[in-house]
Amino acid sequence: MNLDAAIRKVPDFPKPGILFYDVTSIFTNPAAFSFAVSKSVELYKGEKVDGIIAIESRGFLLGAPLALALGVPCVLARKKGKLPGKTIEESYALEYGEATLQIHVEDLTAGKRWLIIDDLIATGGTVEAVAKMIERQGASVAGVFGVIALPFLNFAAKIGKYNPKWLVEYHGE
Ligand code: AMP
Repeated sequence: MNLDAAIRKVPDFPKPGILFYDVTSIFTNPAAFSFAVSKSVELYKGEKVDGIIAIESRGFLLGAPLALALGVPCVLARKKGKLPGKTIEESYALEYGEATLQIHVEDLTAGKRWLIIDDLIATGGTVEAVAKMIERQGASVAGVFGVIALPFLNFAAKIGKYNPKWLVEYHGE
């Protein structure tokens, strides 16, 4: 399966100078979607993972099938203001702009090992924000998975210690 061919590339979105790697073109392609999910299951099947934390919104579609396959809880990290219960939150800088993510406090169990899932890892700021919440609650990061990674944006400096894994990487435009 050529996953690269299944990823739509949109120049200058959401602002000039950003090449957007659109993972939604994997979701509309059943063979590519199935391949991406199977690969993620292969990577983490024998690993000690107690739960998945999926990042809004494209990370949800990857985290849910992986959580089901591993038989572990799927917890959502959502943009500020969406979760109804008591939350923990963390703000962070994006490749473009700034954002805040929240997680239900009662879902983050101390002592558990969480695997963080997003569609794409760029600077690593988003994943790092989730890792900080996990650690603040006394739990730990079991790993990080993204379908796409942009190593030239140096996410290794922020999240290299969490053993990030990915399926396709790009090296700039
Ligand atoms: P970062 O925090 O810099 O690692 O950015 C990762 C988050 O921003 C992910 O949730 C991605 O969906 C999104 N993102 C950042 N850069 C891009 C890009 N070039 N193409 C698609 N999504 C991106």
